[in-house]
Amino acid sequence: MYDPKSLKAEEFISHEEILSTLEYAEENKTNVELIDSILEKAKLRKGLSHREASVLLACEIPGKIQELYALAEQIKKDFYGNRIVMFAPLYLSNYCVNGCVYCPYHLKNKHIARKKLTQEDVVREVTALQDMGHKRLAIEAGEDPVNNPIEYILECINTIYSIKHRNGAIRRVNVNIAATTVENYRKLKEAGIGTYILFQETYHKESYESLHPTGPKHNYAYHTEAMDRAMEGGIDDVGLGVLFGLELYKYEFAGLLMHAEHLEAVHGVGPHTISVPRIKHADDIDPNVFDNGISDDIFAKICACIRVSVPYTGMIISTRESKEVREKVLRLGVSQVSGASRTSVGGYSEPEPEEENSEQFDVSDKRTLDEVVRWLMELGYIPSFCTACYREGRTGDRFMSLCKSGQIQNCCHPNALMTLKEYLIDYASPETRKIGEALIEREMENIPKEKVKQIASENLKKIEAGSRDFRF
Ligand code: SF4
Ligand code: SF4
Repeated sequence: MYDPKSLKAEEFISHEEILSTLEYAEENKTNVELIDSILEKAKLRKGLSHREASVLLACEIPGKIQELYALAEQIKKDFYGNRIVMFAPLYLSNYCVNGCVYCPYHLKNKHIARKKLTQEDVVREVTALQDMGHKRLAIEAGEDPVNNPIEYILECINTIYSIKHRNGAIRRVNVNIAATTVENYRKLKEAGIGTYILFQETYHKESYESLHPTGPKHNYAYHTEAMDRAMEGGIDDVGLGVLFGLELYKYEFAGLLMHAEHLEAVHGVGPHTISVPRIKHADDIDPNVFDNGISDDIFAKICACIRVSVPYTGMIISTRESKEVREKVLRLGVSQVSGASRTSVGGYSEPEPEEENSEQFDVSDKRTLDEVVRWLMELGYIPSFCTACYREGRTGDRFMSLCKSGQIQNCCHPNALMTLKEYLIDYASPETRKIGEALIEREMENIPKEKVKQIASENLKKIEAGSRDFRF
């Protein structure tokens, strides 16, 4: 029985409710009156239910899709302005005891190079990331209680936060590790993590079980209920995501929104972020064997539907996607992108020799961070290295209430400009710096509050003079 408040996976992600939602969406996909009323509701910027959002996703009327895209663009502008938050993944270890059939780190892959960073390696990798200009990391590790126990992850987090190379610092570490216990989530919280990210992969229980035939991840309920345990452990920023291509996208989309509704209903705060990965080629993985792959157009439509359905939730896209696709979905709602990512263990400090490939997936966007930053600015975006909310304790419902008050613009915008200024001075090429300085000058005018503008302007001068780390 469907119950968003239940703590049981099969009840808050009810298979029957998803099937009935899909049926409802199919029946109403040409119901212009209903679609118009859903679009009107979305304009209130308070979000949509999974049923309403599924109707928009099913709709194929070109004019209505254009309206949806225009609304997604507008909501994106209202909530996130033209800022894009930058981050990089850091792979700690690819040892894994699970059997996920879409990931080359699965236990039975005997020819992939298995690697695990030592603390000295972590220092080297993080120094390389700091020297590029990154301030925000997402750490990734396979599930392996012997090679990657929680103590190892905690030690790495500690090391990462302690490294200060030149003006560099990693100011926020988000964590993407396997579902674990409340006690371990509490330890992660105490270690000062930002968001805990865990992709559901698929919400379809039967598919989930066959895609995860062996290992602890096989347990659908334990995996699906992980965010509740994370929140019980005190982590109030959690990141959802599905791996598009494994199951039918309409099913996944409804499941994703039901998961968001569940978190809101039980914990009073929805997901902090939603990631939208698509299955990609990797070592022994051929994406063509998964026959639910989605086109770039469908992918864009999913992003637009997420944007209008959960306006306060950040949306993340990785370098799995090409420059062209990233460009399209940035407009429609994506608010965070990774740049210059390496998806191998130890890939930042030195390139991996070909025979030692440890990549989790092939990267489509291979540009340097400087190139990505410049590209974003040329498109009219402000690349932001801001990590202020988490460091000011604005997490969970405190973050959401600031968003809902509309005052977040007075934090995000100046913070973006100040952190971009740091980046330009410390890491950018002369050409990127020139474009960036002109952008900052123009964008200072768009800080809503006069007092904030004045403080930001003084801080920019202090950054020129050598000070760092200002924030609102
Ligand atoms: S997806 Fe994660 S759990 Fe599954 S094999 Fe890859 S690293 Fe292991
Ligand atoms: S002020 Fe907060 S919400 Fe805005 S960019 Fe910085 S961390 Fe994100």
